[in-house]
Amino acid sequence: MERHSKIYVAGHRGMVGSAIYRKLQQEGYTNLVTRTSSELDLKDQLAVTAFFTAEKPEYVFLAAAKVGGIIANNTYRADFLYENLCIQNNVIHQSYLNGVKKLMFLGSSCIYPKLAPQPLKEEYLLTGLLEETNEPYAIAKIAGIKLCDAYRAQYNCNFISVMPTNLYGYNDNYHPQNAHVLPALIRKFHEAKLNGSAAVIVWGSGSPMREFLFADDLADACYFLMENYNENNLINIGTGEDLTIKDLALMIKKIIGFKGELTFDSSKPDGTPRKLMDVSKLHNLGWKHKVELEEGISLAYQDFLNKIKP
Ligand code: GDP
Repeated sequence: MERHSKIYVAGHRGMVGSAIYRKLQQEGYTNLVTRTSSELDLKDQLAVTAFFTAEKPEYVFLAAAKVGGIIANNTYRADFLYENLCIQNNVIHQSYLNGVKKLMFLGSSCIYPKLAPQPLKEEYLLTGLLEETNEPYAIAKIAGIKLCDAYRAQYNCNFISVMPTNLYGYNDNYHPQNAHVLPALIRKFHEAKLNGSAAVIVWGSGSPMREFLFADDLADACYFLMENYNENNLINIGTGEDLTIKDLALMIKKIIGFKGELTFDSSKPDGTPRKLMDVSKLHNLGWKHKVELEEGISLAYQDFLNKIKP
């Protein structure tokens, strides 16, 4: 990408898209194109066609998606499948029709089989059944990977797919029901501290293991791969380190300074037991994360506090 190349960041107001946008700005890119969802509904085929025909971006980061935590994924199953298929179909197809030089499609570690060996290697895609709670989202993301590969095979498009692990960071969603575990727990521990509650409820058994990457590190990896990676199939982006949900809760509790107890709500689903990324492909290319979990949680907590200021 040249500093004046026209780059479209789809989803620039979300946690991932905004981190990519900031990274491109820091690197000196001056011709960034964005649209809010009210300006451009990416589910709308005609609107996306008109946008690409008018703007003709040269590079695309496809970070727009309908996302959410385990309960949101499991509750809005139709919306997660339909909306994500629409968004990616429209953006990827229009990128092909309008001669986009390179597109990056962002997926998720939930595309891997529920009981795949750990750590998850890229080649485990489609080797087993998916985790039930996020199957609709995963099916959409798998279709996106295959769409990028199909356009590469048939039309020689340089479309790449990257699979981030669980993410957190600036501009995250802190909704009590629909958020992912890390931001949800930041909110719960913060409110429990303010209210002087005796305990914080953690969903599930606390034993599932998860890996977490700070969104600014993800943006750094996306930029690195956009510059250095031009292959089909997928590439994992993560830290290669995980911890139990219980240990995550204890870490957040300590950072926020909550003095009470943890209670586990076994009526809520655990989801997949473990989804640790094998990041050797990424490490071999020369990229490694910088922000460790404790530091990242402190930064995210500060951002949360700034956002909730009256
Ligand atoms: P997942 O990685 O797709 O399973 O999505 P989540 O980030 O939503 O959940 C990860 C794990 O954290 C699951 O085992 C949840 O049951 C557990 N968890 C514990 N407390 C919470 C909470 O308050 N919100 C969410 N979303 N998950 C929680």
